[in-house]
Amino acid sequence: MPLAAQPDTAPPPAATLESTDPATGEVVGRFPVADAAAVGAAVDRARTAAQAWAALGYDGRRRRLAAWRGHLARHLDELADLVHRENGKPHEDAVLEITLAVDHLAWAAAHARRVLGPRRVRAGLLAANHAASLEYQPLGVVGVIGPWNYPVFTPMGSIAYALAAGNAVVFKPSEHTPAVGVRLAESWRAAVPDLPDVLQALPGDGATGAALCRAGVGKLAFTGSAATGRRVMAACAETLTPVLMELGGKDAMIVDDDADVAAAADAAVWGAMSNAGQTCIGIERVYATEAVHDAFVAEVTRRVQRLEPGTSYGPMTMAAQADVVRRHVEDAVAAGGRIGAGGTDPGTGRTVAPVVLLDVPETSAAVREETFGPTLTITRVRDAEEALALANGNPHGLAGAVFSRSRRRALDLARRMRSGMTSVNSVLTFAAVPALPFGGVGESGFGRIHGEDGLREFTRAKAITRQRVPLPVPLMSFDRPAGATAALARFVRLVHGRHR
Ligand code: NAD
Repeated sequence: MPLAAQPDTAPPPAATLESTDPATGEVVGRFPVADAAAVGAAVDRARTAAQAWAALGYDGRRRRLAAWRGHLARHLDELADLVHRENGKPHEDAVLEITLAVDHLAWAAAHARRVLGPRRVRAGLLAANHAASLEYQPLGVVGVIGPWNYPVFTPMGSIAYALAAGNAVVFKPSEHTPAVGVRLAESWRAAVPDLPDVLQALPGDGATGAALCRAGVGKLAFTGSAATGRRVMAACAETLTPVLMELGGKDAMIVDDDADVAAAADAAVWGAMSNAGQTCIGIERVYATEAVHDAFVAEVTRRVQRLEPGTSYGPMTMAAQADVVRRHVEDAVAAGGRIGAGGTDPGTGRTVAPVVLLDVPETSAAVREETFGPTLTITRVRDAEEALALANGNPHGLAGAVFSRSRRRALDLARRMRSGMTSVNSVLTFAAVPALPFGGVGESGFGRIHGEDGLREFTRAKAITRQRVPLPVPLMSFDRPAGATAALARFVRLVHGRHR
């Protein structure tokens, strides 16, 4: 029998996405790009899976999340190797990243019932004849769109908490790290073979992400730049899909008069240069008081000079990001800034040498905009109050750090820092504490992953009242006796009227 001719309307072959090792240019993974139809089909499968996942209850989900955690832990080195090859960061840093993600997964699974499960609340005087209860129900399917800089830890901040809250997840990894995203979903299927569609990964670029925004998911958790975040919000607005926005930062460190300068310098260099500076909560600006500035700069210089490309930090994951870093350094120098330590310039090619910039005007791009590279501006300030004012004078507000030996002073500065997270006498630590919420203010986004808030983020609150006994005098009924509301008004005046 002759083969039927292909109709003219046959869809074109799916485009292919290729990821490469930033250090060698070798191909790491090749995947078909998920188009709108593939996204729709995945969300449909996830909807069915979400019902079975929710029906399992907290214990059933906890057992399966533990199996996944076990699988990730047993294959940690393989996954770290893949992260190293696809993102460029040193293997050891990839191990650290995955360890943190596994820890969050354990916390989310262990605490979901306590945080989200049904609980009685006081019904209050007016509804004293009712029992009132509150619980947090899953949204169904959560769409997760992730970046490439921490290709395991960052999306897992949404995925782990959304799953523990009883949702299925459709994950669109960054086009720069699709193999890591696909591996996460594979590990899920290997560990939880009875419910393979509860976590799916869809490789693709911005168009795939945009299709996910329009696919009718219960919530869209986005991590990436503010520019893309705006596009995601606009697309989600079409279907009133709620969003979580984890965006970029320009985090500052304050080094106060009484700080341990060596510890502050060590933390600043790690916070700024690890992961080649491609850390949303990386330290990009330091404000050091007169009293410590020179010693701090000297200590930072000593430490930056010891950094080795390849072992201390890898190449930039994206070639285009290296250009942004160079532009910021050039702009800072043109505006009167000095290169204080590290390479005399950031170099050419994909590996950017760490650069410390001194005396950079606050109006320069290196101080205003997210650099996302291994640079650090250090600015001399009169005192910690001036440091705080400058730290807070940026549209971003993700995280930050304060170094001071005075606990009271440090906590006061930390509280007044305009950011979602602040660490005292360390950097980035809040990200390693699963019980603490993670998220920003201003241009750094809104909503929270991690901790109790992170679990609730992927749920809707459900309120239930149950009448235990009827009221002798019904107030919300057309059978209400005359004079009932007058008695109520007397009661309100008695209870509340004395407050002035
Ligand atoms: P990006 O905004 O370029 O891309 C993020 C994701 O959005 C990618 O998966 C991309 O494919 C997708 N995307 C692009 N266009 C889209 C569209 N129109 N609709 C839907 N999705 C679309 O960001 P990036 O370069 O991957 O990541 C770096 C940024 O992420 C930095 O600003 C960094 O600070 C930020 N970040 C924030 C956090 C946080 O938790 N706040 C964590 C890590 C990274």
